[in-house]
Amino acid sequence: GLEDIATPRRTKEIIQRHGFSFKKSLGQNFLVDQNILQKIVAAAGLDETKGALEIGPGIGALTERLARSAKCVTAVEIDQRLLPILDEVMAPYDRVRVRHGDVLKLDLKEVFAEDFADVEKVSVVANLPYYVTTPILMKLLEDKLPLENIVVMIQKEVAERMAAAPASKEYGSLSIAVQYYSEPKLVCIVPHTVFIPQPNVESAVIRLRVRPEPPVQVPDEKHFFEVVQAAFAQRRKTIANNLKSRFFTKENKDALEPLLRSADIEPSRRGETLSIEEFARLSTLLLEAGY
Ligand code: SAM
Repeated sequence: GLEDIATPRRTKEIIQRHGFSFKKSLGQNFLVDQNILQKIVAAAGLDETKGALEIGPGIGALTERLARSAKCVTAVEIDQRLLPILDEVMAPYDRVRVRHGDVLKLDLKEVFAEDFADVEKVSVVANLPYYVTTPILMKLLEDKLPLENIVVMIQKEVAERMAAAPASKEYGSLSIAVQYYSEPKLVCIVPHTVFIPQPNVESAVIRLRVRPEPPVQVPDEKHFFEVVQAAFAQRRKTIANNLKSRFFTKENKDALEPLLRSADIEPSRRGETLSIEEFARLSTLLLEAGY
């Protein structure tokens, strides 16, 4: 049989034979390391009954491994030039379906209905294009797709922000958004040397275990995330000052401190110290008071 795609030798061979040139603007850094692939696939907990959705298959380094571990794989690739290559290298794997398109524009509910009708659980597994990591992950989470895990290679700093705990310097609105929908866990830090070409940033694999229910009850999700955004608007300011600028006027600003105290939050604290539970209490009380 053929050597795996994710070796420097076979990757270079495929790329040269097809005259493929990397597009930096599409975040094209291909994996050429069996070990890292093994860790990514293991973290997803796939088996013969489950489906995998891959975003950006490239020349199929990860796709091939997914095809050996899941019941069916759908891979969405934006770069038309990769389609004939994928056609060739995926020929031995009839459980793989390649779709051409921009994942941000795709109706994922429709893809799920068409491709994953006979699997019970689906995970997203991908080495993401770094220029659109956050929009892709937020789309996957906000669309409330029936996902089990999201296991992705992303920029290390972004992974650390997603998994950050209150009061750490990485903690911010992204941490809360991700943790509202999932339980993040950093799987491993990844050196530049496992990619062709090598990216300029450090990478990490993160697993988001998608929650069946949010960890806190809020009356209005949009309002909750507005409060979170406001709290982090100026990191050096207190929660009271940040909320005042966003939700209050000169005339009614005195109403804020009693509201904060009834949510059991000291007005002099900074937003970055508030837990997701505290943000939920705060959003609820503000909304009930008409803010
Ligand atoms: N999975 C391959 C691997 O690990 O070797 C390639 C990973 S590479 C970091 C990212 C891939 O995502 C590229 O193939 C790129 O063309 C594709 N891509 C970039 N933007 C995309 C988008 N909006 N929708 C779908 N695919 C995209």
